[in-house]
Amino acid sequence: MAYAGDDFYCDEVLSGRTAVDIVLERDGIVAFHHTRPFWTVHLVVIPKQHVTSLVDPQATALLADLMDAVREVAGRVLTEHGACRVVTNLGHYQDSKHLHFHVSAGEPLR
Ligand SMILES: [Zn+2]
Repeated sequence: MAYAGDDFYCDEVLSGRTAVDIVLERDGIVAFHHTRPFWTVHLVVIPKQHVTSLVDPQATALLADLMDAVREVAGRVLTEHGACRVVTNLGHYQDSKHLHFHVSAGEPLR
């Protein structure tokens, strides 16, 4: 059954209910292949601590470490594919209300 809540990362990924293919794990941060990719290469980087979005004041304390992990993952994609996008959504663009960065390359899948 498709997940119908608004925090896929806490409810499914960090709880272990949905298995993910991890590409990088650090203290407080995990990066993995998107479970329903929009792009041919589509990774997600999230803090393990619940923070709702980039503009959540609680994001401030972990942004430096989080961005460092995003840089690492994006650098790998750039090296492997020659191009890369880094996106975080806000408001009604943001489906899952847990701060996450999309790191993608290639063509749209839908
Ligand atoms: Zn969460």
